[in-house]
Amino acid sequence: MLNYQNILLTVDFSEHDQLVVQRASALAEQFHATLHILHVLDNIPMPDTPYGTVVPLTEDSAYELLEQEKNKLVKISNQLNIAPSRRWLIWGEPQQEITQLAIQQQIDLIIVGSHGRHGFAVLMGSTAKDVLYHAECDVLAVHIKEPI
Ligand code: AMP
Repeated sequence: MLNYQNILLTVDFSEHDQLVVQRASALAEQFHATLHILHVLDNIPMPDTPYGTVVPLTEDSAYELLEQEKNKLVKISNQLNIAPSRRWLIWGEPQQEITQLAIQQQIDLIIVGSHGRHGFAVLMGSTAKDVLYHAECDVLAVHIKEPI
């Protein structure tokens, strides 16, 4: 295969997303690939919800934190013209959900941000490293420079 056809952009809604988003958008254009976007809900409580649950973006909920996360995903997706059926909000653990969705959706390139970690932070590992280790397709780690 010479071209990537299905690219998965992963966003954590941090200030670093912009660079990762730009890179994904440019690559999708270059390869005429279909772009998917995923945010894994790992930072708000979702009691009684099993990992891997896909949260619908079209249904309103009374849970304000969830609505905020949905709005962030919809905003980026709209900017990139990503079709609603390829916008994914999933409750779980990032590495696990990213690599699972990639298999399900026949993704051939996953794009993640990668922080240049120093000192103690290196020991804590990173989502980029975990995804690279577990993914069954190519992974592009967009280098994000952190202040030393
Ligand atoms: P980290 O190593 O956790 O700082 O994250 C590095 C990159 O992994 C981010 O730039 C995203 O591309 C991806 N990532 C981390 N957490 C999530 C998440 N909750 N949902 C989707 N992608 C994530």
